[in-house]
Amino acid sequence: MSYLVFARKWRPQTFRDVIAQEHVTKTLRNAIETERIGHAYLFTGPRGVGKTTTARILAKALNCESGPTPDPCMNCEACRRIAAGGHFDVLEIDGASNRGIDEIRDLREKAQYAAAEGGYKIYIIDEVHMLTREAFNALLKILEEPPDRVIFIFATTEPRKVPATILSRCQRFDFRRIPSSVMGKYISDEAGKEGITINADALSLVCRASGGSMRDALSIMDQLVSFSGKDIAGEAVSKLLGLVEADLLADISASVIHSQGASALDLVEDALVRGYSIEELIDALVGFLRNLLLAASGAEKGITDLSDSEIALIEQTASGVSDVHVLNILRLVSGASEQIRTGASPRISLEAALMTASKLGVAFGFEDLPPVTERVAVSAVTADKTAVSKVIHPQEEIDSDGSGATAVIEADTLSNSSVPLNDSNDEDTQEADSSEKEKENSFVKKVSGLFDMIPENR
Ligand SMILES: [Zn+2]
Repeated sequence: MSYLVFARKWRPQTFRDVIAQEHVTKTLRNAIETERIGHAYLFTGPRGVGKTTTARILAKALNCESGPTPDPCMNCEACRRIAAGGHFDVLEIDGASNRGIDEIRDLREKAQYAAAEGGYKIYIIDEVHMLTREAFNALLKILEEPPDRVIFIFATTEPRKVPATILSRCQRFDFRRIPSSVMGKYISDEAGKEGITINADALSLVCRASGGSMRDALSIMDQLVSFSGKDIAGEAVSKLLGLVEADLLADISASVIHSQGASALDLVEDALVRGYSIEELIDALVGFLRNLLLAASGAEKGITDLSDSEIALIEQTASGVSDVHVLNILRLVSGASEQIRTGASPRISLEAALMTASKLGVAFGFEDLPPVTERVAVSAVTADKTAVSKVIHPQEEIDSDGSGATAVIEADTLSNSSVPLNDSNDEDTQEADSSEKEKENSFVKKVSGLFDMIPENR
């Protein structure tokens, strides 16, 4: 058996099979039922959402041996030949490669002859906006006096480039981008019939990468089956499409949120070793932080196109985190993306942004105070006013004595140790804690004037 790509194999064959375009198919079915068939139709919408497919179904509906009927039989000679693209009276023309006046004049002459098989003569012109002005003028002459039983179906992704004189003679149908949920269900149903399993993460990545185009989604599916066989997991999709996995993005974000800059940089290194580019990483990170911001601020409606497990991951990362904190991290990482566009070193820009972002938690008091061992070190810093700026601007050079900034960085290392320094006088320590907290709060107040980002309530 010859190999058929999914886009052809899974192409909808009847109006009922067309997904996400019910507003179009319902109207067309009604028109056929009530015998109000137009001379010219314009199908507009993004690529790969079913315009040409619907045009072919309309052709079948009109030329089926039991037609015109909203439900073509799919078995008669006409239905089968239209489906296979070999019907004598159904002509598909690519507007991009037949855009000149000669082609359209030729078409005009042939359109005068009645349909060879007694039904409708149907011209499907794809990418009609590519025609030249002269060609459009020639086309207009046919539309002004359309021959009997000749129907034009124009498809275009750019209706604005079609002259108003043509538009005004067409019945226009606007096809919509296919929502991820609808596309995901369709793909997993069709894949299931072929014995192909695709997990939810993989499905959501495929839908996201397709940008709402079923044709693109199915072409990704073709590649995936060649790449990983009949069992498709998220990792395979990430690898094939160069998409950064959500786990990695969540780990980097969590490191930054919890003031572990060094660990964030280690994760960046891991990502580069695994073959991602800095640009891919930044774009993915900005997208992840945007979703994190929505989750942290409770505006989760805006989180779309994600699988349940990705949403759970985002909610988990955002749990207990202030939206202002996430917003500031997002600003820094987007800033790095801007810097790269203006020629800055990609890696240094990203690392500097992550490092700076990882200091926000402590600087603004979003992060809980570090454990006792660190507290000693940090209190030395807060006592030294000159060190304050070091905490907020880690990219600045450290003074020769440099004690303040160094102390903070060492505190990160100390926190990894699980051995408590001083077990015997817990109560004393707690008292010390609260006074340290006050100091820390006044420290936050001091620096708050520098920024306009402090939240009113934490
Ligand atoms: Zn038929």
